[in-house]
Amino acid sequence: MQSDIPDVLVVGGGNAALSAALMALESGASVRILEASPREWRGGNSMHTRNLRCMHDAPQDVLVEAYPEEEFWQDLLRVTGGITNEHLARLVIRSSATCRPWMRKHGVHFQPSLSGALHTARTNAFFMGGGKALINAYFRSAEALGARIDYDAEAVGLELDGGRFVAARVQFKQPDGSVREERVEARACVLACGGFESNIEWLREAWGVDAQGESPADNFLIRGTRYNRGVILQDLRDQGADIMGDATQAHMVAIDARAPLYDGGISTRIDAVSLGVVLNRDAKRFYDEGEDFWPKRYAIWGRLVALQPGQIGYCIIDAKAVGRFMPAVFPGIQAETLPELAAKLELDVEQFMRTLTEYNAACRVGTFNHTVLDDCHTEGVTPAKTHWARPIDKAPFYAYPLRPGVTFTYLCLKTDESTAVHFGGRPSPNLFSAGEVMAGNVLGKGYTAGVGMTIGTAFGRIAGTRAAAAALGFPGEDTARIIEERDRAAA
Ligand SMILES: Cc1cc2nc3c(=O)[nH]c(=O)nc-3n(C[C@H](O)[C@H](O)[C@H](O)COP(=O)(O)OP(=O)(O)OC[C@H]3O[C@@H](n4cnc5c(N)ncnc54)[C@H](O)[C@@H]3O)c2cc1C
Repeated sequence: MQSDIPDVLVVGGGNAALSAALMALESGASVRILEASPREWRGGNSMHTRNLRCMHDAPQDVLVEAYPEEEFWQDLLRVTGGITNEHLARLVIRSSATCRPWMRKHGVHFQPSLSGALHTARTNAFFMGGGKALINAYFRSAEALGARIDYDAEAVGLELDGGRFVAARVQFKQPDGSVREERVEARACVLACGGFESNIEWLREAWGVDAQGESPADNFLIRGTRYNRGVILQDLRDQGADIMGDATQAHMVAIDARAPLYDGGISTRIDAVSLGVVLNRDAKRFYDEGEDFWPKRYAIWGRLVALQPGQIGYCIIDAKAVGRFMPAVFPGIQAETLPELAAKLELDVEQFMRTLTEYNAACRVGTFNHTVLDDCHTEGVTPAKTHWARPIDKAPFYAYPLRPGVTFTYLCLKTDESTAVHFGGRPSPNLFSAGEVMAGNVLGKGYTAGVGMTIGTAFGRIAGTRAAAAALGFPGEDTARIIEERDRAAA
């Protein structure tokens, strides 16, 4: 008779968790998955995704041209400002070249990037049906391989013996709203339960109070799931696990201020920034809107807005920009004149006009081309706009109010290539981590589109294989070879 104790307990129900679960199942381990959300909200932030970033030395089905390891690494190095671990980053990058056949085997299909999708046809492989389809396919595959899945099941604490995982304390939400707590043992455990981005209290504590005496986090919106509350991260921190990173660092996007507090998803992102200017509450510009291609810069704008008074920004464009960016779910606030627009935004009209007039006069328009770092720039205005600078002078004018949209936080469990959770520098023999809960090892700050899913897939697959090895007693050192063989078999 099969024991009730699973070989591998997976905490989480997103991409990293399911990648781990599938690898563990393929290794012959019995797997139990705990997903904090109800079934209809399963999949965490992963359900909101569209693609993963992949290296490739030659065209690969949906990926055009080449995106070699070195270029991927340099992109990552640039956005993180060097706050990354090169060894782990290269491990992620290399695995992205070969993991997709295995993903296909578990039901994930890919499609070429759509127009308007951040110029990513070369670097990012898009999921047919988006992240929701990927999540549904993985759950289906995990179920078919015999996984036990619990929804409304939030792990609230871990029982450890030294650094060894013994059991999780789990709260099961009952249909009547009550909660039943249970102790769930397993031979090994993978933590893939996200960051702490959905925990407003923790964000408040991390961000403190700004120069205006305001709590910036009160004005943050969360782009994804409400279930990544960092409960286990907090518990492990209290139990002496090695934690790394800055609690204020996160993937933060400027999103429409009219978005809901949670789960607004991709459609609330405002992609018009590089085509216009962004003003703060004082009707002043504060950063170079044309610094680089939008895929390389969109993830810094949430933080930039977070550092402005009142954590609000206004992206202003004119009729020339319409049709050149992914349409947002909320319509732009429209006006026939700039003063009328300023009034509609309740900004100081005089200062607004001073900022726009100065900017317009500073534009040196060469050959506008949004697909290259063109020569349209400003002269004699601070901050400069270094590319795609054209006067905002053609009615109608539009404004999109912006708030910081937190995607995921970077404070995380410190790990190494084994994905083991560390205690005082020593790796746990049976407790592993994957995805956002450890992504800060690679992402100290900044972001490049699609790397979240690449990190979750790479480390999820290692964590699942390692956990199965720990539970079933085969050598964890064989992990790289096992993954290589599975990739080859699936190709
Ligand atoms: C709107 C949006 C769009 C994005 N687009 C992309 C994209 O196109 N490409 C890309 O690479 N990245 C994208 N990202 C980032 C990407 O979603 C993450 O990097 C990735 O999904 C992280 O995967 P994960 O499995 O670690 O976390 P998640 O997918 O968030 O999964 C965490 C899981 O843990 C569960 N959980 C949390 N706490 C507990 C607990 N205590 N007990 C049990 N379960 C728990 C949650 O319910 C959830 O199922 C996007 C994010 C958002 C919000």
